[in-house]
Amino acid sequence: MHIGVMGGTFDPIHLGHLRAAEEIYWAFELDRIIFVPAARPPHKEEEFEASALHRYEMVSLATVYTPYFSVSPIELSRPGRSYSVETLREFRKLYGEETTIYFIMGVDAFLDIATWKEARELLSLAQVIVTARPGWRLDGVERSMTPEQWHLLGNPRFKYLKISEITRKTEKAHHESCLVLLVEVVSLDISSSEIRQLVKEGRSIRHLVTDTVAAYIGKNRLYQPGRKG
Ligand code: ATP
Ligand code: MG
Repeated sequence: MHIGVMGGTFDPIHLGHLRAAEEIYWAFELDRIIFVPAARPPHKEEEFEASALHRYEMVSLATVYTPYFSVSPIELSRPGRSYSVETLREFRKLYGEETTIYFIMGVDAFLDIATWKEARELLSLAQVIVTARPGWRLDGVERSMTPEQWHLLGNPRFKYLKISEITRKTEKAHHESCLVLLVEVVSLDISSSEIRQLVKEGRSIRHLVTDTVAAYIGKNRLYQPGRKG
């Protein structure tokens, strides 16, 4: 089996997340992609505004029409902070050694990864796919890493891939520990912070999130001034 895992705060999940996942799903011929909302992200303690349960519900609603997308409550049910390395260990146990696990993240998240818990271990537990995101240069990732970051990550190798060039066969040839795939996807210039801001200002978020998520935000009055979900 080949599964993709995409972690995030998803406050709220938007079309940028979904489109990046969609492209990776088809290019790598995955069996499914599992979205994993972080319950208590180590880096974002004060920043997220909707409760973990609301964020989980929104991911569930955003993926309801896509049979190969699902959402896992794994970080919600685990006490303490949400660390991706622990999530990947649990998935590894659940799916066994034969399953290839791809950990999908945007380039902004990857540039931070050296500060994550057991970053080197994380790179060996899953095949990391870094996707493009407007405002960040994929081809600048290697150059922007400091010697300390290289060391913390165990001197990974990077491979730059265009989505149209990827097939399961060509990609298989690159399977190795500590290889990071930089993948140029069609990336949408959308962020959750921008969506929260739009809601605060009473402006439309239609076509930035799925209709189901827009309806959920409205119904539960999330992100409105003076309210914490
Ligand atoms: P915020 O503005 O609150 O930080 P966000 O839009 O960055 O929210 P996150 O939940 O922080 O969303 O991101 C989860 C993952 O999805 C990260 O790996 C991030 O890089 C990636 N991602 C977020 N937005 C996009 C996008 N528009 N295109 C591709 N990847 C994205
Ligand atoms: Mg972010």
